[in-house]
Amino acid sequence: MATTKFLLPEDQMPKHWYNIAADLPTPAAPVLHPGTMQPVGPDDLAPLFPMELIGQEVSTEREIAIPEPVREVFRLWRPSPLVRAHRLEKLLGTPAKIYYKYEGVSPAGSHKPNTAVPQAWYNAQAGVKKLSTETGAGQWGSSLAFAGALFGLQVKVFQVRVSYDQKPYRRALMETYGASCVASPSNETNAGRAILAQRADHPGSLGIAISEAVEVAATNDDTKYALGSVLNHVLLHQTIIGQEAMLQLEMAGDDPDVIVGCTGGGSNFAGIAFPFIGQQLRGKGKTKQRRIVAVEPAACPSLTRGRFAYDFGDTAHLTPLTKMHTLGSTFTPPGFHAGGLRYHGMAPMVSHLTDLGLIEPTAYHQNTCFEAGVLFARAEGIVPAPEANHAVKGAIVEALRCKAEGKSDVILFNLCGHGHFDMSAYTAYFSGKLVDQNYDEAELAMALSGLPSVPA
Ligand SMILES: *Cc1c(COP(=O)(O)O)cnc(C)c1O
Repeated sequence: MATTKFLLPEDQMPKHWYNIAADLPTPAAPVLHPGTMQPVGPDDLAPLFPMELIGQEVSTEREIAIPEPVREVFRLWRPSPLVRAHRLEKLLGTPAKIYYKYEGVSPAGSHKPNTAVPQAWYNAQAGVKKLSTETGAGQWGSSLAFAGALFGLQVKVFQVRVSYDQKPYRRALMETYGASCVASPSNETNAGRAILAQRADHPGSLGIAISEAVEVAATNDDTKYALGSVLNHVLLHQTIIGQEAMLQLEMAGDDPDVIVGCTGGGSNFAGIAFPFIGQQLRGKGKTKQRRIVAVEPAACPSLTRGRFAYDFGDTAHLTPLTKMHTLGSTFTPPGFHAGGLRYHGMAPMVSHLTDLGLIEPTAYHQNTCFEAGVLFARAEGIVPAPEANHAVKGAIVEALRCKAEGKSDVILFNLCGHGHFDMSAYTAYFSGKLVDQNYDEAELAMALSGLPSVPA
């Protein structure tokens, strides 16, 4: 009898996060202060983050211990299952073996609580009372709201306007966990008011919502800021996914040839891929060389079409400068249905590894991704989040390549969340209302021309 679910017992849940900075052939470019153009120090970041997280941001230790109180919360849903997609394989008629790591079993329905819980815990340990943050699709806002409730922190969420309007139930979920939620751009910050003055019906963007949340943290002593993706410590926290997957694939007696993840800010992708990339880097050519495929939306293609340059993380230019693949911090991606992927930049660590040739970036339009997601749902039962549909699409492309080549590669992908709060997007897809937008070349050129100039 062929096994379908590979389940780890709770006592085999990883006790450390894996830090890829320890194994890089060359270090990533430093984060710069926008005023001095010098590398930022811990004191520059202290108004926004507690010291433990700042330490993780710059650490080069290979393993960082997961605090026991955090592991105790993780046991509510971790270890997450690894599933062999037997039925999808049959449907596609592929000789490939397809595995997916399912992160939709968390309370918020995605991988995001993997970092929300430790971030809230470190803040609570440092005596912080309030957290401010942004959310695109609502996944991160719900995750931080959940984590805040566990550790007695008040959470304020700036939700990107289009998603606030499209997804009222995400807001209700945040409020159920005790958070407060406002549509961004809002009238509550200078950054939001400046945008609204230019365009009263602005659909918002992650870049703008980040500006608002950072402003609130920077101007209130009792408030710190939490980011759901992009930063090194966030990617670090997600590596529990790949480490579990490694143990589960050992149980299955398989080793992946191709690893696929979707990329918005890069965290779920890094979570599944970095432990495997690290193994390759340490093996120095003696271990299996796997293909690592990053799938992004064609409407917001930072990795495939962006420039690898220093840029701001937000629209109002309140953040430090990081070197990353960027479409320009003033670029407003069109309002397509994978809100979690509507970010102008990419995690600096994912950008660095792409620049080193260790990651293959690809981009697909939303209709073909929804088609893949519906096919997956009808075979495997789980309705993926619109973001996760990009990973499903990437995995199906690989499985069909195997079919054409008569190869039985092992494909592993991260099913980073379910789509139960995104059913209106599926309704739009079924009624033919989803538009495959290309980003606006003229707006992109303008946004890129505004990149900050950084002396070499
Ligand atoms: C937030 C989110 C994403 C995008 O963020 P990454 O940091 O790139 O992972 C993707 N999928 C889901 C389900 C999300 O909630």
